[in-house]
Amino acid sequence: MKHKHVTFSKNIFIPVTNVCRNACGYCGFRARSLDDAYLISVKEFLTLIKTKGAATEALFTAGEKPELANFASFFKHKILDYGYSSLVEYTKELCKLAIKHGLLPHCNFGVLSREELNELRVMNASMGLMLETVAEVEAHKNSPGKIPAERLKMIEEAGKLKIPFTTGLLVGIGEKPVDHLRSLEAIKSLHDKYGHIQEVIVQPFIPKPFTPMWKKRPPSFEELKEVVRAASRILPDEIAIQVPPNLTSPKELIELGASDLGGISEKTIDYINPESPWPGEEELRKIVAPYELRERLPIYPRYIEKGWYSEEIRPLIEKYADEEGLRKRKR
Ligand code: SF4
Repeated sequence: MKHKHVTFSKNIFIPVTNVCRNACGYCGFRARSLDDAYLISVKEFLTLIKTKGAATEALFTAGEKPELANFASFFKHKILDYGYSSLVEYTKELCKLAIKHGLLPHCNFGVLSREELNELRVMNASMGLMLETVAEVEAHKNSPGKIPAERLKMIEEAGKLKIPFTTGLLVGIGEKPVDHLRSLEAIKSLHDKYGHIQEVIVQPFIPKPFTPMWKKRPPSFEELKEVVRAASRILPDEIAIQVPPNLTSPKELIELGASDLGGISEKTIDYINPESPWPGEEELRKIVAPYELRERLPIYPRYIEKGWYSEEIRPLIEKYADEEGLRKRKR
């Protein structure tokens, strides 16, 4: 057996806004017309988080730099209407509310500046940005935020700020097998320097209707296995390899080195992959057997031990974490 256990977390998925400056060829999330565009209101947000059940994580996702998007004027009017001047300022407020309601925030907002990361850091248990790939691919030709150097720079800034960090590869968007190795090497070298990467997601591209890549075939399971094998070889053991159980069959990938299933939600859908429901906890338990399934928080045990969290979230970590840094078991 490769690991002691397989982990997952319980989250509430919060799509803050779908206004995005990028136009990735595979994206079904971003607003394509003014009629689709939204910015969640505090009332809608509270309704979502009040359904939290047993969740410990508030997963905030948003389009990247909506202030620079096609529908920037919609976004700017809306945010001013709500009484805020930027997405980051508004999100800080939502994070505070999440904490008050017992949820540890994890923000994944695309490329952020060092100042924005620093602003959000105190309110977040961890943060994330998918590297996706270090290759320049056709799917990103209309996405200024997907320039690999920009993304690596943000991941590096997060390291300097000691933010426990999640990143990952999106497999099958036009990159070559060698690019998987280069992407993993790039993540490893940032981790070697800053020690802040807690997990690397290996996520398959899934075609979405009404997108330019609708007809492109998703990666085969063999390709995914190859990436997990490479991740297991290249990344240090302390970085968990995460495979999303709603997008692939985790069993064999666990045998190859994956040890985390990411966040699942009992109450909200995966807004990025709405066609793919998460399995429930009991189903996951059966899938990973004979490995033990353990619930974790959005901050991994190593960073709890190192004290890489703020006073704002300390009470929740103390409430939820056991002596191993995983979620306390039900008695
Ligand atoms: S950055 Fe994310 S939300 Fe924006 S277009 Fe690309 S995949 Fe969609």
